[in-house]
Amino acid sequence: MPNYDKIDSYLEKNLDQSIAELSRLVAQPSVGAQNLGMKECASLVGNMLRARGFDVRIMETKGAPVVFGERKGKSGKTLLIYNHYDVQPPEPLELWDSPPFEPSLREGKLYGRGVSDDKGHIVSRLHAIDAILETEGELPCTIKFIIEGEEETASVNLFEFIKQNRDLLKADACMWEFGGVDHREVPMQYLGLRGICYVELSVETASTDVHSGLGGSIFPNAAWRLVWALNTLKGEDERIRIKGFYDGIRQPSARDRELMAALPEVAEEYKSRYGVRQFIKGLSGGVDLRIEEVFTPTCTICGLTSGYQGPGSKTVLPARASAKVDFRLVPDQDPDDIRRKLRSHLDEHGFSDVQITDLGGDPPARTDPDDPFIQLVAKVAEDVYEMPMQLVPLVGGSGPSHPFVHDLGLPVATAGLGYPDTKAHAPNENIRIDLYLKHARHMARVIKELAG
Ligand SMILES: [Zn+2]
Repeated sequence: MPNYDKIDSYLEKNLDQSIAELSRLVAQPSVGAQNLGMKECASLVGNMLRARGFDVRIMETKGAPVVFGERKGKSGKTLLIYNHYDVQPPEPLELWDSPPFEPSLREGKLYGRGVSDDKGHIVSRLHAIDAILETEGELPCTIKFIIEGEEETASVNLFEFIKQNRDLLKADACMWEFGGVDHREVPMQYLGLRGICYVELSVETASTDVHSGLGGSIFPNAAWRLVWALNTLKGEDERIRIKGFYDGIRQPSARDRELMAALPEVAEEYKSRYGVRQFIKGLSGGVDLRIEEVFTPTCTICGLTSGYQGPGSKTVLPARASAKVDFRLVPDQDPDDIRRKLRSHLDEHGFSDVQITDLGGDPPARTDPDDPFIQLVAKVAEDVYEMPMQLVPLVGGSGPSHPFVHDLGLPVATAGLGYPDTKAHAPNENIRIDLYLKHARHMARVIKELAG
């Protein structure tokens, strides 16, 4: 590998300046859910890219604008970097030790809403670019940034944006918005995300709640209708009963199993952290538990509502009942297909009266662990973190990586400044400055090595 002394020393010498820039970005609220400061933040991010010689376009969508920036590099290679400038609402404010939009540096950590998710990633990547430009005068490869403003509200316009801008977003590889180290300080490479299909199921059996003495023997009960419908979705054996639900699922490969087997044991940690006495399906731990955790799809009742739930008794027959249900999907299931199958299933079981409201979804997507870009990102990490990056074939959560993998055809790698106590989405969100610097050093290497 080339010598990174000059780049590393620039990154260290100018670290305070970079943290100050991050603090200015965090001080600009950009709460998507509350439509607070979105345009202002997009323009601030645009100006930060322009200051590095990027051609910037603030591109309108049906929701918050996307900031696109491009700066040409020496080689023919192009790296697409995906980030987002929106943040989660800061509430409850009383649980913050310092105000969420007044970044505060304490004991090697910077606190503030969005400092980790995702503004710290944006600015540490710009810091890496500054180091390269300062020491070499130009970029070794072309860099394109796509920085959206709706990641925290399900990226509803991102798929369409990517479809309509395929040429603009053309690249050789994509760097994802997040990444980081685990509790052992091992840098992790997350190669895939499960999909999700989120629905609300609702039943209405009358125009109003009724006295249970009057209606109990002769009126349909919305709560029972819903419970019976839910009962058809999954058996006590945990098998999901929707016809065709498991069609098209790719089983984990031998390579996946090998990578999963190398991950740390989770059984005892889960039991103590969540107070769970035992796992379902007779699982006890080891690689079987970890594979089951991410490689099988789910049907989860996330919430149930009906009738009277206050103190004491109320003899009432509820007119309405509803449940929030999410399905976590594995490659190659598709949320639209699952929603259609759910509708047919309910109809076939006599539950045409159960309405389905679509609350959003993402298809699953993953990148091959042996893709050359993944290998490159993992290899250069070793130079920074002084240990090999650990490859994780699939994680349980979901995100909008599908259009990057399937529409743009890119390998997607993760890298970042996250760590287990970063408190993203929660009060006292923070980053560790040492990991901020490491991420910048890592990114500088990825950009240089991709150029070849
Ligand atoms: Zn987030």
